[in-house]
Amino acid sequence: MRFRSLVFLLFAAATLAWAAEKPKPPSSPRLYVFNCGIIKAMSVTTYGFKEGEVPNRDFVVTCYLIAHPKGTLMWDVGFTPDAALKPDAPNKPLKTQLAEIGYTPADITYLAMSHYHSDHTGNANDFASATWIVQRAERETMFTEPPPRILAPATFSALKNSKTKVLNNEDYDVFGDGKVVIKTAPGHTPGHQVLFLRLKKDGNMLLAGDLYHFPEEQTMNRFPTFEFNVPQSASSRAAIDEFLKKNNAQMWISHDLATYNQAKKSPQFYE
Ligand SMILES: [Zn+2]
Repeated sequence: MRFRSLVFLLFAAATLAWAAEKPKPPSSPRLYVFNCGIIKAMSVTTYGFKEGEVPNRDFVVTCYLIAHPKGTLMWDVGFTPDAALKPDAPNKPLKTQLAEIGYTPADITYLAMSHYHSDHTGNANDFASATWIVQRAERETMFTEPPPRILAPATFSALKNSKTKVLNNEDYDVFGDGKVVIKTAPGHTPGHQVLFLRLKKDGNMLLAGDLYHFPEEQTMNRFPTFEFNVPQSASSRAAIDEFLKKNNAQMWISHDLATYNQAKKSPQFYE
């Protein structure tokens, strides 16, 4: 074989090996944070404030990957499906962001969303091969006809046939070691849930989904006008407050741009 052909073959083999190599499971859980878009300033009155009481601001749409020694969990999957992203979008496609750290949707063990609103389900169909973890009340509403507002059923229709872990308004320890725990927190939607992480280096964190959108909802005790059930949201907030104190955990309001701007973004990670 001529030297040049040999070099070419070796190069091709190395490329294939590189492409096939999957990320090794980490020795302790990691949290990767992705930018899944920006929602331009909406009126604060939608979130229970008087006009001018708090400043209007943009929301960030955050997607997360948790890599655990025993598998992976996608938590919230964006607003605009990758295929519909415009070239001038402020964010890269979610699949591109995953690929940059070596993952494809086929590598994802579990999919869970804080809730069914369209700014959390955008790319759900891409993860239909994962096991979907969802509260029963949430799943039932997702597949009712006609669909309620703020739902984009086309983005999650493939989940109907996914392997599914249905929860009955209960918490769920995803990998069985207490380090990645889905917690029931209904009210914003019938089966809204939040995610608790026990990280070795960065400590205890709670990804709060849409339990709050603005930090002032917490400090000024306000509720969005489109809550499914305000009293239920109030008790979920109280229960989560208690839980945060007990576990010395910091809470992450997923849409809060100030929180996001200070965060480590993928390919960096929390661990
Ligand atoms: Zn949201």
